[in-house]
Amino acid sequence: MPQILDGTRVPAHILDGLKPRLSRLKRPPGLAVVLVGHDPASEIYVRGKIKACAELGIHNEELNLPESVSTDRLLEIVGELNARTEIDGILVQMPLPGQVDRQRVLEAVAPDKDADGFHPLNVGHLVAGRPAPRACTPAGIIELLRYYHVPIEGRSAVVLGRSDIVGKPMALMLLHQNATVTVCHSRTSNLEEECRRADILVAAVGRPAFVTGRFIAPGATVIDVGMNRLTDRVEAIRLGKKEEFERKGSVLVGDVSPVDVAHVAAAYTPVPGGVGPLTIAMLVSNTVMLAERHQRSASTSA
Ligand code: NAP
Repeated sequence: MPQILDGTRVPAHILDGLKPRLSRLKRPPGLAVVLVGHDPASEIYVRGKIKACAELGIHNEELNLPESVSTDRLLEIVGELNARTEIDGILVQMPLPGQVDRQRVLEAVAPDKDADGFHPLNVGHLVAGRPAPRACTPAGIIELLRYYHVPIEGRSAVVLGRSDIVGKPMALMLLHQNATVTVCHSRTSNLEEECRRADILVAAVGRPAFVTGRFIAPGATVIDVGMNRLTDRVEAIRLGKKEEFERKGSVLVGDVSPVDVAHVAAAYTPVPGGVGPLTIAMLVSNTVMLAERHQRSASTSA
């Protein structure tokens, strides 16, 4: 039987590790979450983030803005949050509506308040292997691999997907852990063959059950980042999710076939309950790190 890498067990471990650091701070860290519009998935994510912060006594603020918000208004709000000393971390929930210049908004967040680790300066720190807030989803995956003692050093890791928020930072983090890393994308030749070389396969494609048994080497560890809502009944049944479909009218499916991975892999993350819960824990971790830095620099300049 393959091992199921249960992501719901890891956040408590991460958050417990943060408690002594929180108790040494002179004031609670502050996180501001900016949410534009009413995307149901974004609202769920933001609620989860606020709840995790509240449970640890982290000051949190949610700013809800209309779907019609302009880039200039968002830049103004980010500027105000940058200037507030009690706010250590700022998160602008993605996706943003089409009229907003996403890149300008992300780059407007002060690098020392970049709770998501998306600012180019922090991406540069990641490339250089220097401490800085890290993109939460891949950072959470490294924590998950550590928690389950999955060896990384010297192993062949394949990251399927090259987005700025998952694929690229994931590849760099695995490289810093001394894996031999291959990054695959939509133009990769012999995709299945490349993926089959992986001891650790990370799938971040955004396509339901795209990774079939032919992509997976027997005995590999498979990390499924995908979160896809499937409304096709036949496909849901084929993927072994009939009961859930009949109850809800749709199912949440990862980028990896849940049927195939259970047959071929040695260990894998389920969807839901795999990678998803880790992202929030790493956001809290980034916020604590930013608060520590702010309080250190405030005390040295006092
Ligand atoms: P994205 O920005 O859409 O990137 C998808 C990547 O997959 C791209 O690099 C793309 O290649 C590649 N790709 C697409 N079709 C392909 C194909 N047929 N063959 C090979 N490669 C292909 O997605 P993302 O933001 O990284 O997210 C990926 C998935 O993770 C989504 O399901 C998302 O919902 C989920 N996600 C989950 C969490 C979590 O907390 N669990 C967090 C973030 C994202 P090109 O670059 O060549 O186009």
